[in-house]
Amino acid sequence: MLSFDPNSVKIPLGNFINGKYQALSGQKIPVKRPSDGRFYADLDEASAEDVDQAVQSAQRAFTESGWRSRPPRERGAVMRRWADLIENDRYLAQLESLGSTRPISDVIHHEIPFTAEAIRFYAECADKYSGDLFPTRDSSLGMLIPEPYGVIAAIAPWNFPLSTASWKLGPALAAGNSVVIKPSELTPFSTARMAELGVQAGLPAGVLNVVQGRGAITGQALITHPLVRKISFTGSTATGAHIMSAAAYHGTKPVTLELGGKSPQLVFNDAGDIDELAMRMLRGFTANGGQACVAGTRLIVQTGIAEALTQKLIGLCKGFRPGLTWDEQTGYAPMIDEKQGQKVASIVAAAKSQGAEVLVGGERFADTGEGWFWQPTLMCNLTSNNPAIEQEIFGPVLTIQTFEEEDEGLALASHESYGLCAGVHTLSLPRALRAMRSIDAGTVWINRYTRSGDFIIPTGGFMQSGIGKDLGRQAFEASHRHKSVLIDF
Ligand code: NAD
Repeated sequence: MLSFDPNSVKIPLGNFINGKYQALSGQKIPVKRPSDGRFYADLDEASAEDVDQAVQSAQRAFTESGWRSRPPRERGAVMRRWADLIENDRYLAQLESLGSTRPISDVIHHEIPFTAEAIRFYAECADKYSGDLFPTRDSSLGMLIPEPYGVIAAIAPWNFPLSTASWKLGPALAAGNSVVIKPSELTPFSTARMAELGVQAGLPAGVLNVVQGRGAITGQALITHPLVRKISFTGSTATGAHIMSAAAYHGTKPVTLELGGKSPQLVFNDAGDIDELAMRMLRGFTANGGQACVAGTRLIVQTGIAEALTQKLIGLCKGFRPGLTWDEQTGYAPMIDEKQGQKVASIVAAAKSQGAEVLVGGERFADTGEGWFWQPTLMCNLTSNNPAIEQEIFGPVLTIQTFEEEDEGLALASHESYGLCAGVHTLSLPRALRAMRSIDAGTVWINRYTRSGDFIIPTGGFMQSGIGKDLGRQAFEASHRHKSVLIDF
């Protein structure tokens, strides 16, 4: 039985500094449950002074706790214990589910195991990265030695709070850094519990700190703090640009940016079974209510199967029902809040005013109280400058464009601003490879549209979708700075 009573879940204090929860005296931010829109807690917002306390504690832990100098396999052992605690903590799952858009069955079956496995993957990386040796003159030995940065600031969005945190914390901590993480102010509490479990597993106090609050207050204080040596950010393109410029002015800090997307699903006539394809397209734009950076939101389909695929999708879109995230029967996610719902509504309205036709959906579900659920929506008759094609909607809206010839499809697939992800669907290998080469995106999925559940494949966008990679060995390597050493002997 996974369903639970959200009112029976004790909400922790959100700020976790120097190994314990801390009550702060600044501004209180009321926090709502997305699926019924009810206020359920007040969050203490960390002021610039509180952020300073967290960063100082992280810096002290970096220099004094011995975390960075511990044998890497021992760091890995702590992290494996942490992953086990995460996997078995029902309280963590309930905090994630009641406070985010993630239904409890998704949290238990996907989010939590995925989070724990990401931590385990980086635990295994801890002793498997060794820098380089260089051919030099006979009398010299040249080396490149990786070392941790010190304090890394991690900033996360609200759409997958725990797994996003694990993608940032895993590599940074395995490399021996200390971290101060700021979750979204809309989904604050599960990350704090995750940090508490880290201390239970053996992370020294101060190695992992959580600060809470709005971007302009807490986030800004964190990214501009002089002791923060690197920033790992996931969120919108606009905030990413701001963070990049602040990082340049406040210490020339390196940044990893995982930003927005507007990903195409390029489907050719020879893509195979139409029912299977329709399900693939459906999951690609409705998972988490469309609030996924990699959502496949632009269907670009060859005319030979366009009508049949569209009709299948219209039928499937009618099968969704809203529900409370703490009910195990719920499979469809709410919008995170009314503001996000209104954003979806306004882009759909703007798209219609420029000639787009809504084939199904196009509205909020009725009778869901204060919860905001958007109906899966299909739109066609779109020119390439329609707002629904140009802008990231971050809701369950799929635009449909058709093409006759391969070149035409390829031209439609690459977006002028975003390059996060793309799906290519064809049973012709040469065509798939031509498309893979042509599309400007950091990830191309061929004949599938989802991650594989492995952690070795990195993820990251091109152009305005970001800089650098999360996951894979690349994220671990990027959690180090590299010192060149030349020894004469
Ligand atoms: P957002 O940019 O509004 O906020 C993200 C985080 O940044 C939040 O914690 C916020 O408080 C913080 N923030 C805001 N202003 C800040 C500032 N001045 N200084 C420091 N921190 C600040 O994004 P969101 O609405 O929370 O998330 C949705 C966006 O995230 C979408 O665009 C989505 O595509 C993107 N996203 C990208 C990926 C990826 O891997 N590429 C993954 C998930 C989400």
